[in-house]
Amino acid sequence: MAGKLKNCPDCGKIYVDTGTGMCRDCYEKMEDQMAEVCSYVRDNPHSKVKEICDALDVKEKLVRRMIREGRFTMDGIDFEYPCEMCGKLIHNGRYCENCASQMAKDMEKADERAQEKLKESQGLGVGMYSKNMGI
Ligand SMILES: [Zn+2]
Ligand SMILES: [Zn+2]
Repeated sequence: MAGKLKNCPDCGKIYVDTGTGMCRDCYEKMEDQMAEVCSYVRDNPHSKVKEICDALDVKEKLVRRMIREGRFTMDGIDFEYPCEMCGKLIHNGRYCENCASQMAKDMEKADERAQEKLKESQGLGVGMYSKNMGI
């Protein structure tokens, strides 16, 4: 037996799952839609995700999936879409430069904190400073 019988999450039909996560019809439909989205974006490079969905009657989920999979970047399409953190329009990756560097900083800080904890636990008491609040 190759593959398992499943219900297609899209149309509800029973299909043999070969790892596509949906039935053959829906999979082909999705591939078609992706191709449509690609050519639409090529013609309208500054369209927003919402506009694409409205114009082509596709689900926003599909366009987001294409962004995550890097379809537009792969095809060399200059497509702007919102940063997942702040909504600023970006061309590649999932976050804008600000959010990306903010996240990198946060990560560094977390790292520093880990380092400090390590020093503390080793009893090296680094640069104790007292804050003089008030006045
Ligand atoms: Zn289906
Ligand atoms: Zn951002």
